[in-house]
Amino acid sequence: MRIVLLGPPGSGKGTQSQRLIKSHGIPQISTGDLLRAAVAAHSKLGIAAKSVMDAGKLVDDAIVLGMIQERLALPDVANGFILDGFPRNLSQAAALEGLLQELGQPLDVVVLMQVDNQELVRRIGGRRTCRNCGRVFNVFTSPPAAGETCPKTGGEHDLFQRPDDNEATVADRLKVYDEKTSPLADFYDARGLLRKINAEGDLDVVTSRLEAVLAATGPKPAARPAAAKPRARKKMPARQPRVPAAKPVAKPATKRPAKRPVRKAAAKKSTLKSTLQSALNSALKSARKLVKKAAKKAARKPAPRRAVTRAKKSALRVKAKGTRKAPARKQATGKVRRHR
Ligand code: AMP
Repeated sequence: MRIVLLGPPGSGKGTQSQRLIKSHGIPQISTGDLLRAAVAAHSKLGIAAKSVMDAGKLVDDAIVLGMIQERLALPDVANGFILDGFPRNLSQAAALEGLLQELGQPLDVVVLMQVDNQELVRRIGGRRTCRNCGRVFNVFTSPPAAGETCPKTGGEHDLFQRPDDNEATVADRLKVYDEKTSPLADFYDARGLLRKINAEGDLDVVTSRLEAVLAATGPKPAARPAAAKPRARKKMPARQPRVPAAKPVAKPATKRPAKRPVRKAAAKKSTLKSTLQSALNSALKSARKLVKKAAKKAARKPAPRRAVTRAKKSALRVKAKGTRKAPARKQATGKVRRHR
């Protein structure tokens, strides 16, 4: 289950959280504890937070939110968690809501633990913590049992009082709670998550009231993680319908003044024509000369005997054999070959 324990300092959030860890098997996430660990480690964050905590004021939201974000990323919160001391103002509540939505792990219930102011002052005044095992006692209401030993050292619990649990600071812390934290009751009521229990009286009785509320609520099925915020997409210009590529527009012919006037061009054309004509005439003239010369030469020479080809000769032979009319030819040529 994912639970927020809401209530003023001294209302028993830490004590009841310890019991829920055992009964529900889910971790407690206390921003007060995380900050105290940072202070003890003398980390930058701890040094910055210490004076604010000692004065009973709220540590900067950015620091606390960063711590919570890191803590909720650990695998042990898979089955749920108990938030103790967080959120403590409206902006933290809104940030938590967004973070859990992103993780797909919305809260199941917010339990407001109601305790009378006078009782709160008495409880805070009597609160003591074991330096070694970290267990919280109250010298008035829940002191260590007789002979009880610290599981860390095996000796007696080494109890100390938190620096912000002194009377002067307690008044400031209650004031801060009234102003900054109590409006969260309405915030969660509006979301249907708020349950209230009477957190005064015997510790076990308070635990059973708390468990009854949790049992009545039950865990919500884990929601699907909110889709990661879509990255701001570059706004693309609306797609334009396809248009055939425009044919390149012919450049308007720049009106260049004609280099030569048209008449000059015509004159040039006619010159060319006449040159070609004269070349042709002279070629014809020399060709005619050659032809005349060849004719004169031919007239002087006797006419050449007609060449009789082999094929023609054999054809004649065949013809003569078939007809035996050789005399005609004989008369003509006077030369008839005898057949063998
Ligand atoms: P707690 O142990 O929850 O009473 O917290 C002790 C001190 O730690 C507070 O008085 C604040 O100074 C600081 N603190 C714890 N939780 C928060 C928180 N969620 N926002 C701001 N300061 C916080």
